[in-house]
Amino acid sequence: MTDTYVEIDLKRMEQNAKNIVAKYPEYGTFIGIVKGDAYGHGYGIVNALYKGGIGYFAVSSMEEAAAFRKENTEAPLLCLEPVAIDRLDEAADLELTLAIPDMEYLKALLNNKCDHPFKLHLQIDSGFNRLGFKDKQEVKDAADLIEQSPHTLEGVYQHYATAGIFDPYYDAQQNRFRELTSLLDLSKIPLVHLGSGIALMAHHKPDIATATRMGLMMYGYNISPDSYGNSPKDRLRAARDKYFQKKYNISEVIRDVELELKPAMTMKCRILQLKDVKKGEHIGYGAAYTAEEDIRIAVLPVGYNNGIGHHDNGRVVEICGKLFPIVGEIGMNMMCVKVDHDVTLNDEVILLGGKITLGMFSRFSGMGLAEIMLGVGKNNPRIYID
Ligand SMILES: *Cc1c(COP(=O)(O)O)cnc(C)c1O
Repeated sequence: MTDTYVEIDLKRMEQNAKNIVAKYPEYGTFIGIVKGDAYGHGYGIVNALYKGGIGYFAVSSMEEAAAFRKENTEAPLLCLEPVAIDRLDEAADLELTLAIPDMEYLKALLNNKCDHPFKLHLQIDSGFNRLGFKDKQEVKDAADLIEQSPHTLEGVYQHYATAGIFDPYYDAQQNRFRELTSLLDLSKIPLVHLGSGIALMAHHKPDIATATRMGLMMYGYNISPDSYGNSPKDRLRAARDKYFQKKYNISEVIRDVELELKPAMTMKCRILQLKDVKKGEHIGYGAAYTAEEDIRIAVLPVGYNNGIGHHDNGRVVEICGKLFPIVGEIGMNMMCVKVDHDVTLNDEVILLGGKITLGMFSRFSGMGLAEIMLGVGKNNPRIYID
């Protein structure tokens, strides 16, 4: 066994997918976002999701697409970022669906000698100001050009810039999407997909949507916003929301969605050494920690080289069901935790998973949820279990 590793539970991935698909039958197609090496889980998870009912996938680069296709040659696969025109032959070999971010790209595609008929998805910029069309006549012209080409307009989509939790900008973006696609006959385009996991969970399906995209949820995190509690402050907030909702015509936010999603990723390591440290002795770089009493520490083969960041805002690890705090600074490859005398050298240490949720890890490290998955998943050996 390696010193530090990440376990990926394929059964959980499959069950998460099944639960998502069963929860939202109003969507015809589920597009699983597997960019960033499948959020650090690696493309070994793809078939578990596929078996669970995720029927379409999306990556962000040709390299990711190639890694995906090593696992699965059957599922439709969208590349969210425009494929370089001089690599269209590769894209054809990988049977990629292409995203079209603007007219210039579309024209370059149509003028290219690669004669493979591609499935295309038009990207609409509904307020992100990253990729996508911003002019409705251009959207219409693009659709007309595709109609006369060997390619097929299979989809049209946008991406929300905000989470849409009590958020007038969510509605503004959706309205902008409707406006920008108003010259198209959306009923003739098989896949109309808006937003991301949070939009899926927190809002009713927009009438125009036939598909949905999600990332984080599939990997096992219920990102549904919590409802307000009963404290005077929370009741005030709820009242304020209601008032503004009416005043600005903000769409309803669905909170506390019951959907069982279990984290597939668990980060573990072994203990390198157990050591007694006397009161007044220092630990680690900068002698930053001083023992206030006689303590016992475990030295762990984990540091920022393993993608966990270097901040320690009250960070703990789990050993035999108990939580123990970090002492001293996190090094590149090692760190120390204060343990009790029940801990033995053979005990397994859990750094993420078990009692340590992604939310806790985020607070310890100051890292975002997806950022943690990427850091941990990409920087350690992965072991798939099912
Ligand atoms: C990353 C991404 C998603 C998934 O977002 P989650 O918040 O993980 O659900 C959806 N759509 C696009 C275009 C993305 O880039």
